[in-house]
Amino acid sequence: MTSGYSFRHIKRIVMKIGTSVLTDANGQFSLQALKNIAKQVEHVIESGRQVVLVSSGSIGCGMKTLGLKHRPKELKTLQACAAIGQGKLMKAYEDMFAQYGHHTGQILLTRTGFQDRVRCLNIRNTLQELLKLKVIPIVNENDTVSTEEIRFGDNDTLSIAVAELVEAELLILLSDVDGVYLNHDSREIVSRIDRSEQIDELFTHIFSRQKKVVTAGGMQMKLEVSKRAMRNGISTVVMNGRDLDGVKRLLEDKPVGTLFAAQPVKHGFKKNWLRDLTQAHGSLTVDDGAHQALVEGGRSLLPSGIVSVDGHFRAGDSVKLLTAAGQTFARGIVNYSNDELRQIKGKKSANIKEVLGYMHNPEVIHRDNLVMME
Ligand code: GLU
Repeated sequence: MTSGYSFRHIKRIVMKIGTSVLTDANGQFSLQALKNIAKQVEHVIESGRQVVLVSSGSIGCGMKTLGLKHRPKELKTLQACAAIGQGKLMKAYEDMFAQYGHHTGQILLTRTGFQDRVRCLNIRNTLQELLKLKVIPIVNENDTVSTEEIRFGDNDTLSIAVAELVEAELLILLSDVDGVYLNHDSREIVSRIDRSEQIDELFTHIFSRQKKVVTAGGMQMKLEVSKRAMRNGISTVVMNGRDLDGVKRLLEDKPVGTLFAAQPVKHGFKKNWLRDLTQAHGSLTVDDGAHQALVEGGRSLLPSGIVSVDGHFRAGDSVKLLTAAGQTFARGIVNYSNDELRQIKGKKSANIKEVLGYMHNPEVIHRDNLVMME
């Protein structure tokens, strides 16, 4: 029996490995569990595909080292456990994959790394280079520096950001459930979701029936992540990481877990990044003519259409575009800093050189670096 959905064309996969997949029945970090995961990852690589792992487990490893039976509540103790456990987690992965002749590379990230375009491109370049070198990238949140404001907080959200960054076609969320349960008691799972709107219906259905808070938080996040993935052209599968040949069967197009099928996308990475990941460093208010030329004419933003400049930013940063009435309608990457724009706003592109003494570009924001907010 096949799932009726083909993964044969898929070349790049992000696999998120939850703590529950790496621990035994007593909640202790387990080398045997890691071995099972490594086998599945090896299958993906042998099939000629590239894989990036997003792995939890540093806190679990740290707890094991300290002999803690219960997860600490205080942030600083969790951070200490992560600091103790992350190196050990990586050592366990490196040793495990060495048996298959692979090396691993560690990447620790926080949300801020994704908000700034230069940092974001550096993360992307590193991941791509590791893949080119046939090294397995293993990503985790940098828990020791991740305070509330800058943290992803959970690796489901981190894994979709990584999948978008490397333009993966498939995100596999491995956890301790077989998929999204339609009915938790009968273990009936949803096999496939084709439209992101169905996720809201599913959400209401599940949470009106199921009061189990322990799994609810995790599943809520997985549904949100899957919705974002579908809309950005990435299929997601929520499946059981303890199923020993689950990933193999999935790639043979057999029905496994819950599949959220990718929807066709309008934009590539750069525009999705601008819309979903960036934090604007400032804003530019434009006149009515420029607003119309950008929205209806598909044009680039020229200095002549800028009325005012707000905030501190450099060339290459992301800014919001506002109408004369103060409404945000677009985001874009600027070719000039706020200081330069204050001098050239309202002027013709031909006069940029005269004012600044140089001209990088005739446009302030090129059309290719501009995305309309829906
Ligand atoms: N970064 C945490 C860890 O390595 C896990 C976060 C999560 O599981 O979502 O333990």
